[in-house]
Amino acid sequence: MNELTVLSGKGGTGKTTLAGSLAELSSPCIAVDCDVDASNLHMILPGICRHHEAVVLGRTAVVDPARCSGCGACLRACRFNALQYVNHKAAASSVLCEGCGVCALVCPNQAVTMQEEISGHWMISSTAAGSLYHAELEAGGENSGKLVSLLRRKARAAAEQLQLRYVIGDGPPGIGCPVIASLTGTTAALLVTEPTTAAFHDLKRIAELLAHFSVPAFLCVNRWDINPRITKEIEAYALDSGIEPVGRVRYDREILQAQYRGVSAVNLDTPASRDIRLLGDQIFTRMEAT
Ligand code: SF4
Ligand code: SF4
Repeated sequence: MNELTVLSGKGGTGKTTLAGSLAELSSPCIAVDCDVDASNLHMILPGICRHHEAVVLGRTAVVDPARCSGCGACLRACRFNALQYVNHKAAASSVLCEGCGVCALVCPNQAVTMQEEISGHWMISSTAAGSLYHAELEAGGENSGKLVSLLRRKARAAAEQLQLRYVIGDGPPGIGCPVIASLTGTTAALLVTEPTTAAFHDLKRIAELLAHFSVPAFLCVNRWDINPRITKEIEAYALDSGIEPVGRVRYDREILQAQYRGVSAVNLDTPASRDIRLLGDQIFTRMEAT
């Protein structure tokens, strides 16, 4: 089983469109939407949800006012200023509480309990490409890196069990914790960028991150024809950094319009959709050879 994680370092490069297309081209596969803060792969790969489960990733302090003497020990001990007095009793803010449990340790009256907190939900949907593993964090929910790790773990286990050849992950933008959780241990990454100075800058940051974690990477410049000069600069940088350019996809308004109609990019017959199919061939040929 091979896992390909599609990353961009920046939003708006067409990463999710390409991730969904690659999932369809490697069907039957398992697709994973690792962008749990703003999941949208289900819009590219619409399906029917067949599993929905709450996920607990953290704890929060709850004070029992009947036991609280108002001594203030917990307020002094909390480094996150998550406790305050309400009617002379301690009360914890679920927003500020980091779940460290120190207040429960210092309370002389056992007035504090640590309660599990539902951080979000994870789902499995049946799509045309195969199963899609996706999730939603609760509003203000944290630990998105943990949620990404959980999704990937379940997706990989299912792929192994079903003896599928590919898990295709749509990674989050940026270079933070959820991105690291998306790429550690993956077989390879596809970096999707566009020929703009801002996208090039963000590409360099994600390329450095991949090098740090020794993840083999491919490059695709999406909408390459809007600036061929920067496209060449990006590809030259990639080659210097050990990242193989494996495809270019030209600008095509029809792809976006087709997606609004629920039609996948790979099911069109346009020059850009042919670029995407060629990109898939290039990537899967290389991954099969590893
Ligand atoms: S669990 Fe930690 S962060 Fe939360 S209220 Fe207690 S001391 Fe503060
Ligand atoms: S340490 Fe316990 S008793 Fe003292 S204020 Fe906090 S919750 Fe109340």
